[in-house]
Amino acid sequence: MSIYKDPASERAERKIASLSPELRRLAEEGGKIIKNGGLVAFPTETVYGLGADALDPDAVASIYEAKGRPSDNPLILHVSSVEMAERVVEINRRARMLIEAFWPGPLSVVLPAKDIVPLRTRGGLPTAAVRMPDSAPALALIEMSGLPIAAPSANISGRPSPTDAKTVLSDMGDRVPLVIDGGDTRFGVESTVVDVTGEHAVLLRPGGVSKEELEKVLKEEVLLPQDQNIIKRSPGTRYRHYAPSVPLVLCTAESMPAENRRWAWMGIAKPEGTPCASVLFKNKAEYAKELFRALRMLEKSDAEVIYAETPDEAGIGRALKDRLERAAGK
Ligand code: AMP
Ligand code: MG
Repeated sequence: MSIYKDPASERAERKIASLSPELRRLAEEGGKIIKNGGLVAFPTETVYGLGADALDPDAVASIYEAKGRPSDNPLILHVSSVEMAERVVEINRRARMLIEAFWPGPLSVVLPAKDIVPLRTRGGLPTAAVRMPDSAPALALIEMSGLPIAAPSANISGRPSPTDAKTVLSDMGDRVPLVIDGGDTRFGVESTVVDVTGEHAVLLRPGGVSKEELEKVLKEEVLLPQDQNIIKRSPGTRYRHYAPSVPLVLCTAESMPAENRRWAWMGIAKPEGTPCASVLFKNKAEYAKELFRALRMLEKSDAEVIYAETPDEAGIGRALKDRLERAAGK
C-alpha cells in the first residue's frame, strides 16, 4: 500500500479534521441522507449547494425537481479527494496542474466522464464537471456519504443564489430534510468552470479563481467562449439566472441616467442623487461576496428599479460582471 497522498486531498483531510463537533454530527446525519438517495443543503465557500448522490439518477432527478431546474443543465460533482474524482472522470495533465494549485477551492474542471456517471447528472454530455469545495462541512458531508455529491445552488431556479442558510430555508425549506448552517459563504459567486478536454483550455464560467490565475498555473492562454459552441458545451450559460423581482440596470456612478422612479443603488462608488435604498461595498471582493444578498435585500425595498455599478474585469471583477449582466437579463 502506498502512503503517498496528493496535496489537494491532504489539504481536504486537514480541513475535515478542523470541523466542530456540532457540524461533524450534522455532516454525519447528512451523509446518511445522501446514501439513502435524499437531498441535503450545505454550505460551500462559493454559495450554498443542494446536494444528492451524483451516481443515483433518481436522487439527481429530485434535485432538478426541487429547484425547478431545466434537465439539460448539467450538475457539478463535488468530491472530497482526488481519488474520488478519479472514480468519475479521466484526469489529464492540465487537470492535475489545476487540482494541485487550486483544490480545495472554487474551481470546477470539465473532463471526460466515466460510464459510472449517469447521463442525467451530466445533462447528456460526454463530460462532467468536478470540484473539491474549500469548506469543512461540505468536505465532511461528502466524506461521510462516501459518494461524489451532485449539487447546484440551493435556490429556486432563476433566483439569486443563497449565500446563507436563512435564504436556503426561505427558498427551499419545505423541500429539503436537512440544511447544514455553516454561516455566510466566503466568495459569494459560484465556482469558475474551466474545460480542459480540448486543444485549448476554455473558461466556461468566470468565478472565484480568475482567468489570470488559471493562465499562470497552466502557462498558456485560457480562451473565452466567444462563439456559439459555448451553448452546446455549457448548457447552463443559456438560462436566465439570478433574476431579482425588480428590474436591474447596469451603469457607473457617473453614467446614471436621470430617474423619476424610486431607485436603489449598489456599487463601490457613491451615486449622485438620492437613492431610496443603497448598498455600498468596500471593494470588488466584498461586492462579489454580498451581491446576491444585496439583490434580495434591494428587491424588498420600495425601489422600482435597481442601479448597479459595473466593475472592471480584472480578477474577481469578471465573475462579478458576468453575474450582474445575467441578473440584468442580458
Ligand atoms: P450551477 O449548478 O448552477 O452552478 O451550474 C453548473 C454550471 O456548470 C453550469 O453553467 C453548467 O453548464 C456547467 N457545467 C456542468 N457540467 C458541465 C459539463 N460537463 N460541461 C460543461 N459545463 C458544465
Ligand atoms: Mg445556480
